[in-house]
Amino acid sequence: MAIHNLGSINIDHFYRVPHLPEPGETLAATEYRMGLGGKGANQSAAAARAGARTRHIGAVGSDGAWAVARLKGWGVDTTPVATLDTPSGHAIINVDATGENAIVLFPGANRALPLSHVEAALAAARLGDTLLLQNETAHQAEAARQARDLGLRVVYSAAPFDAEAVRAVLPFTTLLILNAVEALQLSAALQTPLDALDVPELLITRGADGAEWRGRDGSRAFAPALAVKAVDTTGAGDTFAGYFCAGLDLGRTPQDALTWAATAAALKVTRHGTADAIPSAAEVAAFRP
Ligand code: ATP
Repeated sequence: MAIHNLGSINIDHFYRVPHLPEPGETLAATEYRMGLGGKGANQSAAAARAGARTRHIGAVGSDGAWAVARLKGWGVDTTPVATLDTPSGHAIINVDATGENAIVLFPGANRALPLSHVEAALAAARLGDTLLLQNETAHQAEAARQARDLGLRVVYSAAPFDAEAVRAVLPFTTLLILNAVEALQLSAALQTPLDALDVPELLITRGADGAEWRGRDGSRAFAPALAVKAVDTTGAGDTFAGYFCAGLDLGRTPQDALTWAATAAALKVTRHGTADAIPSAAEVAAFRP
């Protein structure tokens, strides 16, 4: 089986600044760091590092070759990543002395990806494979529909939350993944209690309060968060989603996949960084919190 992830690839530029810039102000940063980001890239990294056969469907600009090489280095098949004549998606992240941040996000190539490219890439998928998708690319609903028609499991990590996007993708979704805030937002937008949500499987992650899964027959599973010293929770949700998908793809039961994902996410939060900090399956197996 394989996971086909229609996902964003972002270049994150981090600037440490004495304070967040005021309108009209020019401000010198005291530190600069660049990293690979985007929910799509994070989830591909997690699924591949977990050991699942993972193909990333997406796009970068000519400035994004290193990001693609980084994904490849983690074992992601990047053949369906197009190089477009537009800048890669990127984020300018200013962080002040108190840890407060201000972010400018340019979606770039992630939203410029042609539908024909997505369709051609998905045509290589096989019955029983998984389409994984988030809310940072073009053509989510079209891809989800095509995947459903091909007999794929469609896993939708509905973040960043957008009610219209969820409404469009939900009819084709097998497994919906939300964090606690997104769960409340969706329930309010649809005016439906979460238990009545019309989706075969639902996974809600609740940070340090653990994660719960409900199956199509009403069966349930729960994984408490592991007690660890959290130093950086960025990417915890993406690590969880990638590992959970990989677990199901590799034949684990939902409860087993949930426990595995919770262990991987707990190990992630003990490390600084996002995609680069996502652990491998061997590290997860050796982890003793
Ligand atoms: P992010 O946006 O920061 O990537 P998220 O809001 O999508 O995260 P969370 O629900 O915060 O996702 O976290 C996902 C999972 O990661 C949790 O269900 C839990 O298993 C694990 N996790 C998160 N925070 C902690 C923590 N402080 N200690 C241990 N595990 C954690």
